[in-house]
Amino acid sequence: MLLVCDHCDTVQTPSGRAPTVSQHCARCDHELYVPKPARLDHMLALALTGIVAFVISNTYPVVTLSAHGRERSATLLLAVSAAADQGAIAVAVITLVATFVLPLTELLLYTWVLLALREHHVPRGFRSAMHTLRAIRHWSMVEVFLLAVIVAAVKLGDLATVTPGIGVFALFVLTCCVGFLRRFDLRDLWTLFSRETGARAL
Ligand SMILES: [Zn+2]
Repeated sequence: MLLVCDHCDTVQTPSGRAPTVSQHCARCDHELYVPKPARLDHMLALALTGIVAFVISNTYPVVTLSAHGRERSATLLLAVSAAADQGAIAVAVITLVATFVLPLTELLLYTWVLLALREHHVPRGFRSAMHTLRAIRHWSMVEVFLLAVIVAAVKLGDLATVTPGIGVFALFVLTCCVGFLRRFDLRDLWTLFSRETGARAL
């Protein structure tokens, strides 16, 4: 087996260490990708938990504000709609795309690909799904929204009573699931795909 450094393109033979141990390029010390078994069950569990958390975080209020005897609850989509009503169309669109459309697309694509690979099927549209996943991993920003909610809740603390809703806990779970999913190397799925199709990936 030969390994290619994706930083300096040097081709080298792996050291005698176990294939799961990370190895570094002899020329530039960049970490080399060593094909390893994809942890499909772990990834699928995270993707499915993420979808459940996504549904809950968009169904139940993220925060409830109480002031002068009045109470107001807000979900993510209500917040987006309120921003649009106040003329902040750009903010509304960016929030909607980065915290709703992209995370949902990411979780559904993971589920689609993982379910098929787990059953030893070749997922339809695998290449497009993987290219889309790689691209949107950088633009889906649930964690930023969670941070914004916490900051806003602290800032509003003097003006109103802020009660975290079920939605914010679901948002936290969603952030963890998406974060852990991104720690898995997508190249492991390509390796499995190429094994299933019997063809060389890329
Ligand atoms: Zn290198």
